[in-house]
Amino acid sequence: MGNKVAAIAAMKHAGVPCVPGSDGPLGDNADENLRIAREIGYPIIIKAASGGGGRGMRVVHTEASLIPSIAITQSEALAGFGDETVYMEKFLANPRHIEIQVLADAHGNAVHLFERDCSMQRRHQKVLEEAPAPGITQEQREAIGERCAQACLDLGYRSAGTFEFLYENGEFYFIEMNTRLQVEHPVTELITGIDIVKAQLHIAAGRPLEFKQSDISLRGHAIECRINAEDPKTFTPSPGRVDLWHPPGGPGVRVDSHLYSGYTVPPYYDSMIAKIIVYGDNRKSAIARMNIALSEMLVEGINTNIALHQEICQHAAFKTGGTNIHYLEKRLGL
Ligand code: ADP
Repeated sequence: MGNKVAAIAAMKHAGVPCVPGSDGPLGDNADENLRIAREIGYPIIIKAASGGGGRGMRVVHTEASLIPSIAITQSEALAGFGDETVYMEKFLANPRHIEIQVLADAHGNAVHLFERDCSMQRRHQKVLEEAPAPGITQEQREAIGERCAQACLDLGYRSAGTFEFLYENGEFYFIEMNTRLQVEHPVTELITGIDIVKAQLHIAAGRPLEFKQSDISLRGHAIECRINAEDPKTFTPSPGRVDLWHPPGGPGVRVDSHLYSGYTVPPYYDSMIAKIIVYGDNRKSAIARMNIALSEMLVEGINTNIALHQEICQHAAFKTGGTNIHYLEKRLGL
């Protein structure tokens, strides 16, 4: 069935709010697919059931392009993921991407570690993440978090995991579950003080979680910038020898990276070379710390997107908070 389609079905069953959609894989009956799309209402998005990393998705604005778009997405899905299963969802116009971190063990315990805002994206790929999400109230946070923790129990899920939602007009819409540790997990570690990797290993070893929901509290604000070896304007990958690597440091600054001066970034993999994660008592101080950290950082020999992050962090809309998933591409003029 394709793992994303199965996940959506399971979430609906567990009472997690989902994006209106085909509720299952699309068949090859064109009339039926046209009917489903009409019922959902355009624009719609066709998504590969086995897709990932922002690939295998196509937005359709008009009925005339639906059938050919389904065919193209199917063949791309087959070539890219070895599975041509696709499904359809309403394409939300201006949502934010907000996700809930969970931990669930084999002893009937499941907790949530609040939310992350990952709306700063380019080509459906996250660029900068933060926790908590600006403007989300404690009531909203607890309501959606408890729903996710309960869904883990209903599904018998066991591990660290993330429920990804689009958030629009005050409502959460489930899009997919990541059944693994995510790149952006450190922002949650910094606001909760919980080592998610350790908890995941404990769970895998069959041990019970060392804390209950009531032991977990949210403190301060954390931001992560994904540093990529790429041109900050054209986004062309920039592998090669790192002549100088000088990471930032100081209180509230965490650097997750494997780089050192003299290291050669290979051309074969994802271009992410480091994550700069900062913590502050509040969002304003976290942003200030990130600006300082980015300005202290030196990477010579390859191009990086540090300048892009500096621009994002200094822009008024980001300082206000709550920008949607299209903000960055619009700002970049894409
Ligand atoms: P992937 O596994 O490739 O990351 P997701 O389903 O998580 O795929 O979607 C990635 C991104 O694509 C989302 O964060 C959002 O920016 C965009 N997206 C996905 N579904 C929709 C939708 N129904 N409406 C609008 N944007 C969407």
